[in-house]
Amino acid sequence: MKTINLSTIRDKVKDIVQEANFELQDDVMDVIKKMEDQEKSPAGKAVFDLIKQNAQIAKDEKLGLCQDTGLAVFFVELGEDVRFNRDDGLESLRDAFTQGTIQGYEEGYLRKSVVADPIRRENTSDNTPVFIHWELDKGDHFKVQFVAKGGGAENMSQVRMFAPAAGKEGIEDFVVETIEQGGSNPCPPTVVGVGLGGNFEYSALLAKKALLRKPLGSHNPDKFYADMEKRLLEKINNLGIGPQGMGGRITSLAVHVEAFPCHIASMPAAVNVQCHSHRVLSFEL
Ligand code: SF4
Repeated sequence: MKTINLSTIRDKVKDIVQEANFELQDDVMDVIKKMEDQEKSPAGKAVFDLIKQNAQIAKDEKLGLCQDTGLAVFFVELGEDVRFNRDDGLESLRDAFTQGTIQGYEEGYLRKSVVADPIRRENTSDNTPVFIHWELDKGDHFKVQFVAKGGGAENMSQVRMFAPAAGKEGIEDFVVETIEQGGSNPCPPTVVGVGLGGNFEYSALLAKKALLRKPLGSHNPDKFYADMEKRLLEKINNLGIGPQGMGGRITSLAVHVEAFPCHIASMPAAVNVQCHSHRVLSFEL
């Protein structure tokens, strides 16, 4: 049995929402540099150079990598043998995530990007509510993955329900078509998360989870899906959209596919698009 103070989680959350927004992690920078070498178009190369300059300034001056500092999305792996100590006025685990996010976004001068209602659009002014996806498991581990999810890339994401007869060809066409329709809107070069199987809502969650895979550009351990990832990246990068839609070879940095069992009559598929400002960070306690 492990006991964790809620204030420890709040403080960790406060730190990672800032660090993720200020600094692209090494695995992301490595892929950016690798893909820059493969880019042939002068405009595309110039965009890569600006992305690197922007990342350096954000890191040095502790500024948001982008003006859209995103919804605060957390994936939490929680062992059943973990207990939480309510301290420092925190009432629940969710409260720890909420307060950490509020404090981190305020302290880091990060934009508050949440409206309280989708139609009436009044800003909640503290970037909450946060979005938390819980995964319960045995043991006493506690792992948190954070992604700052900007609106431009999220808006270009799609879910579609296929009949099984669509096969892998139908799925791959859907993924490529989604990226083609997005054009320059999701601020390419993008990261593409693909969720296959599950059901309607679970495929979308899988697609988002796929974005979190570390290191960026690593492949699914199942060769079938690793090959699909390689084929999809090649097809997407043949579209010619290029960095920031300026034309060029590199439209996406990586494609990650995650799959899950599903109903015999269904083949759900989701594509969650992430921009080059791929702000993902995790911690474990
Ligand atoms: S899509 Fe990404 S890079 Fe583009 S504005 Fe949104 S957060 Fe910023």
